Formats: sequence, structure tokens, C-alpha cells
Amino acid sequence: MIRSIIFTAGLLASPLIFAQDNDFSQCKARISERVAAENLPQWIVQDVVANLDIQPRVIELDRNQPEFTQTFGDYLGKRVTTFRVMQGRLLLSQYSELLKKLTDQYGVPGRYLVAFWGLETNFGSYLGNMSTLNSLATLACDQRRSDFFTSELIHAFHILIDNEIDPEDMRGSWAGAVGHTQFMPSSYRRYAVDGDGDGKIDLWNSVPDALTSAANFLQSLGWHAQERWGREVRLADNFPYEQAGLRNRKSLREWQNLGVTQISGRPLPLEDMQAAVMVPAGHEGPAFLVYDNFDVIMRWNRSESYALSVGYLADRIGGAGTLENMPLEDAQIRIADIQLMQEQLNARGFDSGEPDGVMGSQTRAALREYQRSEGLIPDGFPDSGTLSSLGIDGY
Ligand code: CA
Repeated sequence: MIRSIIFTAGLLASPLIFAQDNDFSQCKARISERVAAENLPQWIVQDVVANLDIQPRVIELDRNQPEFTQTFGDYLGKRVTTFRVMQGRLLLSQYSELLKKLTDQYGVPGRYLVAFWGLETNFGSYLGNMSTLNSLATLACDQRRSDFFTSELIHAFHILIDNEIDPEDMRGSWAGAVGHTQFMPSSYRRYAVDGDGDGKIDLWNSVPDALTSAANFLQSLGWHAQERWGREVRLADNFPYEQAGLRNRKSLREWQNLGVTQISGRPLPLEDMQAAVMVPAGHEGPAFLVYDNFDVIMRWNRSESYALSVGYLADRIGGAGTLENMPLEDAQIRIADIQLMQEQLNARGFDSGEPDGVMGSQTRAALREYQRSEGLIPDGFPDSGTLSSLGIDGY
């Protein structure tokens, strides 16, 4: 069995690799020109660019499309685990002095910094072990996002020089993110800070450097010091679900008038803040009211599920209990079916954007409009009834 897999893989892979090798040499020559244009030292070309290796595995991972989307319940269940909450609480107390200093200086409470740390690398227990330079070079020499990754590779060379890092030690995710909080090289150069004051910025080995850098990054992204990310709320039975979604922001008073209360049933605190209502698992799942800091989290990672997980994990680390209305870790939907749904919505005049199989904000908005036009509950969630009405069955 193993022999036959190797044999087949070899047969398929060799012509491909051969073609890539030629291209890769040419691409390395282009990278060397960029290095010269950036006035980087000549040894970068001789010792570093010359030793770059193409990584077919990186292309494979970059092309890899999972078959199923992860629902919010599934996503949250896998990321905000009891272990992470407990570990996060321990670290919050272990690093309390540093975190307090960072809150004073950057305005970001420690529980959020620890939550990012937990979600990005499980508190540093998994930093990724791919050669960052080889990964970036492979993606820079691939057509898909060549400009972006070439620029990231040049940033990585600068990091190498500025912080005297051995290229061999520069390791991380297959897409080039590094360190405890998984910074791309461009963010490393713009936002990373020497938190422990040893004169170098080392996001791999220095927790103070990594946490200080995360705090600086969040402040630069626009973090509002005295505000939460959001909260779980309760919606009235007659809540107008077509008002849900990140794009529809209203004052807390307006939401209160539409039947939104705290999860306990008490009235919302009527601060002068704009907020949006989110129902990521549909009207039967939890409802959240999210504030400006939620958008800041989404500037770190453009996934609504990620941002909700950061907020919820931060709350749990800070001592809060579980969600009142836990989302079901329900059946997954085929990405091909999300794509089909997007095509069907577009064909009916509900603009869900380019059909990409991703349940983003625009797709949810288009789905809400469609659901409303069909007399369904317009919660932007692709439940079996909604999918079936679009001719997509089996859920
Ligand atoms: Ca340092």
C-alpha cells in the first residue's frame, strides 16, 4: 500500500517539480534583483537566496480546499475549549505584571492579549515548523499572490538582518506567519516591539516581546481602551432579523427599542456606542451585540467566527461563564453547496459577490434579503429550509 502511494505520487509529481525547478531558478534571480534594489547586503543573495528551496507541500496546502465549511458552533467548540480557558486564566495570572503594564500603555486588557495568544498558537505550544523563508519564497514564485509574498519575503530578510536571526531558526506557518502571535513579516516590521528590552525583537522566544507586539498592533488597528468587544444578548421574539449583520450599526438605544436586552433580560447599558447584532448560528443560536473593538479584531483576521472566538475566549479567561445559548456543533455544509447557494442568490438578484464558498458578511446579507422576500426568518443562516427553497437538498 505504502509503496504504491509513493510510486503514484512520484509519477505525478516529477514532471511538475521539474517545471517548477526551472521557474524557481528564474524566480530566485528576480528575488536577488529585489534584494539589490532594497540595498540589502550582498550576503543575503549569496548565503540566503541561493539556499532557498521550493516547498511543493506549501503549494499543496495553499491549493487545498476543504470539502466542508465549519459552522460557528463547530469553530467555537474547537477553539474555545475548557483547556484553553483554564490555561489562559493561569497565564493571565502568571503574566499579570507585564499585562497590567501593557494595558496601561496600549489600552488593551490582558485577557484579550492572552486570548489572541491562545487562538494563534495555543499559548506558544505550536509556533509552526515550516521554514519561513522557503515558504514565502515558494508562494512568491507561485503566480497566485506573487507580489504580496515577494514583499513579505523582503520584509523577512530585513527581520533576519535587524534581529540577527539564523535563517534556520526562522520558522512558522506554511503561509509565512511567525511567532507566538503569528505575525506576517510586514506586521513584524511595522508593529513588533522589544518588550523585554534586550535590544532585539524576538517573537519566537520572548513572550514579553510577543505580547507587547500584539498590544501595539491592536492599538494601531484602533482599539478603544475603555470598551468591550461585544456581549451575548437576548432578542425579543419579534426581533426583526433583517436588521442583523455587521453592516447595520445602530445606537444601543435603537437596539433596545428593537427588543435587544442583556442576556440576563436586564436593559442594555445605554452608553454612547454604535453596535451591530450578530446571529452566526441562525435565530436558534446565540445572539451577540458587537461594538467597535469587534471590527478591530476583524482587522487582525477577517473572519467573523475568529473575532467572536477571541471575544468569547477573552471573556472566559477574564472569569465569565459559558454562553447562555451555546451554538450546536451542527452538521457541516459542503463548500460546493455554499457556492451553489451564492450562484442561486446572484441569479435571483441578491448580490452575494463572487461565489467563493465562504459565508462572509456579503453572503449573509444577500441571504437575509432573500429569506425576507420568501417569508422565511431572515437570519442569514443557511438552514435546511432555506437551502431547500434554493434547490439545495440533503441537509
Ligand atoms: Ca526582546
